[in-house]
Amino acid sequence: MSYKDIADKLATDRNLSDEEFLEVICAPFGEIDELLAERAREVREKYYGKDVYLRGLVEFSNICRNNCYYCGIRRDNKNFDRYRLTKEQILSCADTGYELGFRTIVLQGGEDRHFTAEIMADIISAIKEKHSDCAVTLSIGEMEREEYEIMFRAGADRYLLRHETADKEHYEKLHPAGMSFEHRMNCLKVLKEIGYQVGCGMMIGSPYQEPRHLVKDLRFLIDFKPEMVGIGPFIPHHDTRFANFEAGSVPLTLRLLSVIRLILPDVLLPATTALGTVDPKGREKGLLAGANVIMPNLSPTDVRNKYLLYDNKICTGEEAAECIRCMERRVESVGYKVAMTRGDHVKYSVK
Ligand code: SAH
Repeated sequence: MSYKDIADKLATDRNLSDEEFLEVICAPFGEIDELLAERAREVREKYYGKDVYLRGLVEFSNICRNNCYYCGIRRDNKNFDRYRLTKEQILSCADTGYELGFRTIVLQGGEDRHFTAEIMADIISAIKEKHSDCAVTLSIGEMEREEYEIMFRAGADRYLLRHETADKEHYEKLHPAGMSFEHRMNCLKVLKEIGYQVGCGMMIGSPYQEPRHLVKDLRFLIDFKPEMVGIGPFIPHHDTRFANFEAGSVPLTLRLLSVIRLILPDVLLPATTALGTVDPKGREKGLLAGANVIMPNLSPTDVRNKYLLYDNKICTGEEAAECIRCMERRVESVGYKVAMTRGDHVKYSVK
């Protein structure tokens, strides 16, 4: 099959055989990327027009009980300051975000057990009480069903939990023995059962990743049907065992964004900060490859440079207001426009 035939097949069937996916992943950069991106843009515009949704990201704690080998804030890294925002600080970030027009607040952090489900529920309901038209998204790792339920009842709408890799053996090369592939996968299932809009995803070019692992990731996305998918290049952090590994490829990340748009046409797909970190125009390129979400940082500036999952992270200096203007310019530069709405998955939005 020619690349054009494969791109057409993917756009029509929203699926390919494993062999075809492998061929797509391994194809030389160029022709196939243009074909895929063109179809991906068509599909995203069918569902979301030219709108790009912004999510205000509050990185509220860099304290973590886990030891993911790739992550700069993992438990055993002692070479940086830990912080934890207070409830008041988190609410003040949410207020700032709201005033700037954000209608989704994402609360992300390490797995900091200070923030129990009850404490999170209190924060979530406080945000919801003040800003009832705002969606609240959580990204705080693995918990138990009852805990996810408590936070859902408090008003949380969405949950981001990247599966990281759909291959158990690969998962075990990226995480220490105490962490379980099955548990993480089960969390995603439970979150969906509870009623969250769920996001999963993987790093591109993580250590020991092979093309066949990415095929498995795509297969998992097709089966699981998440509302959101977060992907970005792996970027080494100097204080991890993967310090000397290479960063993931930008063109491959872009290609996978297009593929994911085609297999899950209405998915909410961010052009991630990691993509913008490895390439100054990474997020714009991401939008042109089929992404439709950007997640500017709303964290207080004095903690921004402490939430470093990887080296050279961008946007650690600006104020939230500056960020939003910068984002608007970037989005407009590629022909899209910022939509300051909740930006729910089409299945959930009351249009
Ligand atoms: N603790 C939460 C959320 C914070 S980490 C959780 O476990 O879900 C958010 C995401 O950042 C991770 O899922 C991972 O995919 C990504 N990440 C971590 N380290 C990274 C690195 N070195 N390069 C690129 N992405 C990384």
